[in-house]
This record gives sequence, structure tokens and C-alpha cells, in this order.
Amino acid sequence: MQIKFSGATETVTGSKHLVTTDKGYSILLDCGLYQGMGKETDALNRYFNFNPSDIDVVILSHAHIDHSGNLPLLIKQGFLGSIYCTPPTLVVVEVLLFDSAKIHEYDIEYVNKKREKKGETLLVPLYTSKDVERCLKHFKTVPYGAEFSLNDEASFTFSNAGHILGSAVVNLKLKAKTKRITSLTFTGDVGKYHDMLLKDPDIFPHADYIICESTYGDRLHEIETDAELHLLNVVKNTCVEKKGKLIIPAFSLGRTQEIVFILDKLKNLGMLPNIKVYVDSPMSTNVTNIMRDHIDCFNHKLQVYIKTDKDPFGFNNLKYITEKSESIELNNSKEPCIIISASGMMDAGRIKHHLKNNISDAKNTILVVGYCTPNSLGGKIRERQKVVKIFGDEYEVNADIEIIDSYSAHADYSELIRFLSCQDKQKVKKIFLVHGDPPAKFSFREKLISEGFKEVIIPHKNESFNID
Ligand SMILES: [Zn+2]
Repeated sequence: MQIKFSGATETVTGSKHLVTTDKGYSILLDCGLYQGMGKETDALNRYFNFNPSDIDVVILSHAHIDHSGNLPLLIKQGFLGSIYCTPPTLVVVEVLLFDSAKIHEYDIEYVNKKREKKGETLLVPLYTSKDVERCLKHFKTVPYGAEFSLNDEASFTFSNAGHILGSAVVNLKLKAKTKRITSLTFTGDVGKYHDMLLKDPDIFPHADYIICESTYGDRLHEIETDAELHLLNVVKNTCVEKKGKLIIPAFSLGRTQEIVFILDKLKNLGMLPNIKVYVDSPMSTNVTNIMRDHIDCFNHKLQVYIKTDKDPFGFNNLKYITEKSESIELNNSKEPCIIISASGMMDAGRIKHHLKNNISDAKNTILVVGYCTPNSLGGKIRERQKVVKIFGDEYEVNADIEIIDSYSAHADYSELIRFLSCQDKQKVKKIFLVHGDPPAKFSFREKLISEGFKEVIIPHKNESFNID
């Protein structure tokens, strides 16, 4: 049996790991898009380093686009099998994939206008909404904790990863030619313990091999209460003292609802200044409604909270904007306000318009509340570059840049170690570290070895390993 690391090796995006059994059955773990890799991004996504028609099944850990976003292309290029995920993941992935298709269609239209003028051949989008419709027909759901048999060689069980709604750790059992069972766990992305909304990650069964994420392999998060105070201080400083706008770029799924939930709590405590709050993103609005339908998937604290406040994602002064015209109106308003908009890495969506309109005014603040790849617009703003390019034009960054790191959906290194502590370190044969920038992975490898794990490997792209 073999694992081939086909993505998310040197980076945190493009998650794709190919497991092949002794009889040649191919299981693809995730099929994510590379994001924010500059000019290379398109080619990295357009060409798989395996033949899609050779893959038998896909098991999807969670809906994030860097894990699911290349599934429509996989099907377009010949994949015929089923895609397995948890029931909430299917609801979320549908929204994210249609949004992703829209972005590809829009981006290509923009590029093609320029190419047409130069007489160059026109490009086709990676995939379209039609391809997403076709892709969704391949999905099948498996609930957490239920062992699902793929064939006489392979079965898997999902356990809760605590990362986003529906996120799962994939625990595979593989039967070798010798009849010996090998267990392989793919962590997907692992969430924090004591998350604001989600349940803690579950313990998982013994694994001979673990493919483990390492996004925050070299970092510890701020403590949550400090982050809530930090947010309140930024709101007061920007909207009350400077009378400016507070722009919060946030992922539609998870981060937006966390920020809204904190504001909801502050409002209930009477601590939030009397200012307007806008969530300006159709997708964030859709996802918030999905969250409202899945309140039972959230942690005990939230279950208690909703006994006194039925809607943790809504309060007076908060408005969800879906219409483009209303979004444009926000540009003309001089009133202090909070605008939460997507995308989190600031490379797409309405947030780019809000940044363009507000980043050069010193009375405004941009609050970065999530990870951004270094090449993305968010990465440049996070680094506090003095000038940034938005829609091809240069803008001076005069607004204050504030960063709060504790809102991460990823476990930090101490939480990853806690997550792995359910394993017998002597019995785990190898841990493969993926989904992390090189410094995070190297640092995390040292930590795991000092914790007593025997072999911790940082695979290169396309590197294969025998597992038995
Ligand atoms: Zn994720």
C-alpha cells in the first residue's frame, strides 16, 4: 500500500493525498484548490499530478475550498466515483463550490477581455456552475462515528475535527495482501479546544500512520477573553474616537459568525457602542442561515446561550446585505460603522471594494482576524506594507492595521499535541506533516519528536511512501 502526497506539502492549500491499496484501489483524501500562490496558482490547479479517471473514491475531510475546491475539475477530467463527507459538510460545500465557480468565471472573463484586446487565445475557467451541479451528484454522506465499508480492502469512520461545521478526521482501515489491517488517520484540519461555537475535536482510534495538519505548528493563540477585549477596543477606537469605519475581512464560514457572535454577546452586555454593523456578503448570509439550521452541532455553551438569546447571529443594528446596490451604498456613507465582508484573504469578493474605498483614510481600521497566505492581498496588509495593489491600482495604506490571531479555526501546536495525545506514541509508526508553511512544519516535527513520537516526516510534493 502507498500514500502519495499530491498537494498541501510545501503550502497550506491544495490538500490532496492519494492512498492506493495492494489491489490498486485509489482513495483520494480531499481535492482542494491551491490559493494565493500568485501566477503559479492557475497551473497548479489546472493539472493534476495523477489521472482523475484512475481514482476510485474521494473522502472529503471538510468543506473549505483548499480541501474541496478542485472536485468539480476532478470530475470534468474523468473522475466517475463517489465523494464521501459528513451530512453538514454537504450543505456547506454546495454553497462554497458555487461561489468558487462564480469567482473562476468572473476572473476568466476579466483576463479574457485583456487577452482579446491583445489578440491572444481565450482561456476557459477552471470550472463553471454547471460543473458544480454535476459534481454535487457524486456526493454521498456518512454520519460521524459510523464505519463505512468501501470494499473488501478499505473502510473508514469520520470523527469530529472541531474545525468548521461538518469537519471530520478520516480514520481509514486498510487490509493488506497479507490480511493485516493497517490504520491510517488523516486529520484534515483540526480545530481548537474550547472554541466559541464548535465542539472540541474527538479522540480518534489507534493509527499506524497519521497525516497531520501543521498550520500553526510553531504558534500559540492569544487567549480568547483578551481577543474579545481587543475587538471591543478596536471598535471604540475606530468608530467612537476616530469616527471611522472598521473593516473586518473574514471568511464567510466560521469567522464571520464568530465575530458576529462576539458582537452579539457585547451587545447583550450593553458594552457595544451604538453603531451600525453590516455583514456584506451574500455567501456569509447563506452560511449564517445554514449555521442557524445546525445549532445542534455546536457546543454546550452555545446551547445555553440560545436559551436567553434565540439568535446568536443577529441583533438590532446588525444588517446582512446581499444586494449589490446596498453594498455600493456603504461606500458613500460617511457614518462610522463596522463592515464584515469576505473573502478572508482579501483576494476576492466585496471586501476588495471596501478596502479600495477605505484603506487610504487614517481614520479607518482594517482588522485582520485570520490567516492569509503571504502572496495574497491579506498577507500584504497583514505585513503592514505601505502600498498595496487592489484591482490593478496602487493604494497607500493609511488606515490602522490591527491583527487578532486567536480567532483561528486551527489548533495551535499545544492543541495539536493534545489532539494526538490519545495515541500510543510507541505504536504510531509514522506521522506525515502536511498543510503548513515550512517553518511551522519543521518546528512542529521537533516538538513531536520531543513528545516521544518515533518518526515524523515532512513529505515533498509527489513523494510516495509505502505503508503496511
Ligand atoms: Zn479548513
